[in-house]
Amino acid sequence: MFFEKANEVLKEIETALPENAEALEQFRIKYLGTKGILKELFGAMGNIAPERKKEYGQLMNTLKTAAEQKHETLKAKFTATTQESKSSVDITAPAYTFKVGTRHPVSIIRHKMIEIFSRIGFTVAEGPEIEDDWHNFTALNTPEDHPARDMQDTFFLNEEKEWMLRSQTSTVQIRVMETQKPPIRIVCPGRVYRNETISARAHCTFHQVEGLYIDTDVSFADLKQTMLYFAQEMFGKNVEVRFRPSFFPFTEPSAEMDISCFVCEGKGCPVCKYSGWVEIGGCGMVDPAVLQNCKIDHNKYTGFAFGMGIERITMLKYRINDLRLFFENDVRFLKQFESAN
Ligand SMILES: [Zn+2]
Repeated sequence: MFFEKANEVLKEIETALPENAEALEQFRIKYLGTKGILKELFGAMGNIAPERKKEYGQLMNTLKTAAEQKHETLKAKFTATTQESKSSVDITAPAYTFKVGTRHPVSIIRHKMIEIFSRIGFTVAEGPEIEDDWHNFTALNTPEDHPARDMQDTFFLNEEKEWMLRSQTSTVQIRVMETQKPPIRIVCPGRVYRNETISARAHCTFHQVEGLYIDTDVSFADLKQTMLYFAQEMFGKNVEVRFRPSFFPFTEPSAEMDISCFVCEGKGCPVCKYSGWVEIGGCGMVDPAVLQNCKIDHNKYTGFAFGMGIERITMLKYRINDLRLFFENDVRFLKQFESAN
């Protein structure tokens, strides 16, 4: 009777197929538990006839091994399945947000200015920020005793004032004219320095984009058209330009450039101080003396030059009212330009 029962249980164990970890645990309790069937069958040993005890014992071992092996195998399988499902990718999970930084507003506008001028054939030229007297002043028609030097007081690196931080990127124009033959059509973006008291409107460091075009028959009309193209690309198609006579040592004639106020369209508003016009930079025809300094034949070639402060354009474009914000690295300010990238 116990042999029959044991053989039945063996078949049950062999055919049992728990489908998950929970069912497997039930299987373990049923056969291998402290109150399980095997325990019960082992306990029946005393009732077995002595000559069959050995046989019964062997059968019991077979049963136990079968139950244990099945339990071990399935346990390993279910554990592996659980781990696999944990490590697999859940494609329904929300994505991690990945924050990239923002470009500085001055960089955004510098790129835009370069891009606009590159569309009409200007290439980018760069030069050193530490300059000598020749490139920063003398070659630009500003000899030592010239009063215009006071307007561009900068930081000198030695007592003799031979070396200085450049006060304008016109230095790059000189370097290009000294080494390249016309036609020359360049823009020079870069950082410049002035010995100025820091305020909402002035800083000791700022950025310029200057432009230079030298070829035969370059006229003031070309300058006007170039500046009009820039103004309309930067501020909108309805913008007009205005030129007011001015003075720069390195251009003749010289002019200040205004654009019609793109905020009020000329009606008058706080941005244009109710004048309808806002100043964006200076320009003029390159003084023949400057061409001569760079050994370019001023009887054959003419050219125009212009210069704009990048901060000035950025302040107009984004209506920023304090120059100091550009240099304070306050993320609350910088984060506002995320979408402008
Ligand atoms: Zn206005």
